[in-house]
Amino acid sequence: MRQMYQDVFDRNPFGTNCWLLGADGGEDAVLVDPGFEPDELRAVMERDGRRPTAILLTHAHLDHASVAGVLAGDDLPVFVHEADAVAFEDIDAWNPGFDNPLEPVKDLRRVGHGDELSFAGISIGVRHTPGHTPGHCCFVTDATVISGDLVFAGSIGRSDFPNSSPEAMQASLRWFLSRDDADVVLPGHGPRTTVGRERSSNPFLVHVA
Ligand SMILES: [Zn+2]
Ligand SMILES: [Zn+2]
Repeated sequence: MRQMYQDVFDRNPFGTNCWLLGADGGEDAVLVDPGFEPDELRAVMERDGRRPTAILLTHAHLDHASVAGVLAGDDLPVFVHEADAVAFEDIDAWNPGFDNPLEPVKDLRRVGHGDELSFAGISIGVRHTPGHTPGHCCFVTDATVISGDLVFAGSIGRSDFPNSSPEAMQASLRWFLSRDDADVVLPGHGPRTTVGRERSSNPFLVHVA
C-alpha cells in the first residue's frame, strides 16, 4: 500500500473525526467531515503544510457537515450524496428528527455510488452505504475505508432516526464485511481500526449475515 498523508481533528463536543488525507509528500489535502472549529482545522493544515482542495461529507449530520461551507468559502467544492444534499436545501424534507443547522455551501456537488474522485494526489471511490442517513457514503482509497457513522471500533452507527433505515443499514454492513481484513478503517468517531478486527470483535456485526 502506498504511503498516504493522514491527520485527524476531533476536538469537539461530539468527538467527531475530521479526516485530512492526501498523497505522501504533496501539499494538498482533502477534508472529510468538517463539523466544527474551522479556525482550528485551518491551523492543523497549516502546521501540516497542506492546502485544502476539496471537502467530502460521509453524510449531512451537523457534527460531520456543519462548517463545510465555512471552510469551502467561495473556492472549494463540497461533495455529498444527493440524498443527503437535501439537508442543505430542505431540512424538513430530509427529516433528521433533530435540529441540524448547517452553514450554507456555495459549491455543493452531488456524488453517487461508484463515483471515483481524484484530489490531493489520491483517488477516492464513493460507496453509497445508507441506513444511518439516506445518503450516507463511505469513501475508499487504497486499502483504507473512511466509514463515517457506518462502523466504529466496537460499535456501529444508529439507524433509529426518522430518516434512517435499519434494513438498508444491514445491507451496508454486509458491504463493509465484504472488505479485506487488512483494510484500515477511519471511522467518524473514535479510534482507527481494521475490517478484520471489527469482523472478529464488534458485537454489532456478529449477526450480520
Ligand atoms: Zn451521523
Ligand atoms: Zn457522527
